Amino acid sequence: MAEIGIIGLGAMGLASAWAAVRAGASVIGFDRFSAGHERGSSHGESRMIRRIYSEGALYNALLDRAYDLWAALEADAGERLFVKTGGMDAGIAGSAFMAEALSSAETSGQAYDVLDAASLRRRYPALAVPDDVMAIFAPGSGYLLSDAANAAMARLAEAGGADLYWDCPVKRIDRTNGGFRIHAADGNYDADHVILAAGPWVGEFDGDLDRALTVERQVVGLFDGPDDMPPFQRVLADGRRIYALPNGPGGRWKLGVYHHRKQRGPDYRETLPVDAADRALLADALGEVLQDCPPPDAFEVCRFTNTADHRFILDTAEDGRVLVSACSGHGYKFAPAIGEAAVALALGEAPRVYLSPFSLARQTKL
Ligand SMILES: Cc1cc2nc3c(=O)[nH]c(=O)nc-3n(C[C@H](O)[C@H](O)[C@H](O)COP(=O)(O)OP(=O)(O)OC[C@H]3O[C@@H](n4cnc5c(N)ncnc54)[C@H](O)[C@@H]3O)c2cc1C
Repeated sequence: MAEIGIIGLGAMGLASAWAAVRAGASVIGFDRFSAGHERGSSHGESRMIRRIYSEGALYNALLDRAYDLWAALEADAGERLFVKTGGMDAGIAGSAFMAEALSSAETSGQAYDVLDAASLRRRYPALAVPDDVMAIFAPGSGYLLSDAANAAMARLAEAGGADLYWDCPVKRIDRTNGGFRIHAADGNYDADHVILAAGPWVGEFDGDLDRALTVERQVVGLFDGPDDMPPFQRVLADGRRIYALPNGPGGRWKLGVYHHRKQRGPDYRETLPVDAADRALLADALGEVLQDCPPPDAFEVCRFTNTADHRFILDTAEDGRVLVSACSGHGYKFAPAIGEAAVALALGEAPRVYLSPFSLARQTKL
């Protein structure tokens, strides 16, 4: 009997497994697909990490802890996983988005620069900058090498004694007298505690979660981008929020538009092929934010699992299962802090970070 059973080994499940072995717990983990698969939300070479979080101060403690744990992961894994390039939030001066970004910067205690259109053009000639655009540059931001980080967390969890079962879907979880019985494809397993981190599929295990979550198809395009630019997100006058970041050091760039074509529903758990509408949408978005870049010529399909207010769910259900749904397109940067908090909840310990903003009770359907 393991102390902790983890369902789903994307970023959140792997971070939970790594945290559980650090806490000295015995761990079993299951994923329906193979290690490094591309059918969830965590694949791809890079993910943006922003030191100043315009989504709100409620994320600050989780973000601070995540920064500490990314450094710890790099030290334990013996490899670089965080590329600190700085990063920018850009938008129309005076817009609600930039007002929020400015207020987050002012209250963050972090270093930042405010850049107007002229300074943006000077600093980053590759950017397309209309006169009314401004940006906040945070030197502590950058990007994470996500495929490598996922592999490192799996490696360290296994080195700490975790048994991770890949290609092993879990069909059902039952409450037993002493804990939980996990019905997996290759047999039944018992665990004292369960962490549910099944990403877009998490709703299959819990009706309340299913009602609170909406799966959405997301496509990113890869292209030959500028050499010396930090990752950025830019909100256009029409509300489109575009993000762009290096796909790895010295590599290509990738770009996406939050909520892409708004293709939402359980069918979008499947990886539908990229079509002309996807390509056109991404080429157009690229033209809005960068000059003289050829359109994306390779694509990755991913999925967001959204809550109505785009906050995460990190909570314990009435039957004691720990529920983790941390996507809405922005969860990766928090993964090690979320894994650590999930393990604390599972073991009945006080999480280091205040989790009330992430309770299931506050969620309603998108
Ligand atoms: C295109 C894209 C870009 C993003 N960019 C950023 C970014 O720049 N910065 C950032 O911070 N965040 C970003 N995010 C969000 C971030 O990637 C997600 O928050 C994170 O990857 C979610 O991880 P997860 O473990 O919850 O889900 P997943 O990675 O989907 O993992 C869930 C796992 O559960 C497994 N599973 C499901 N059902 C079962 C079952 N029955 N039995 C066993 N296993 C099961 C699945 O196979 C899967 O491996 C982005 C997301 C996308 C899609």
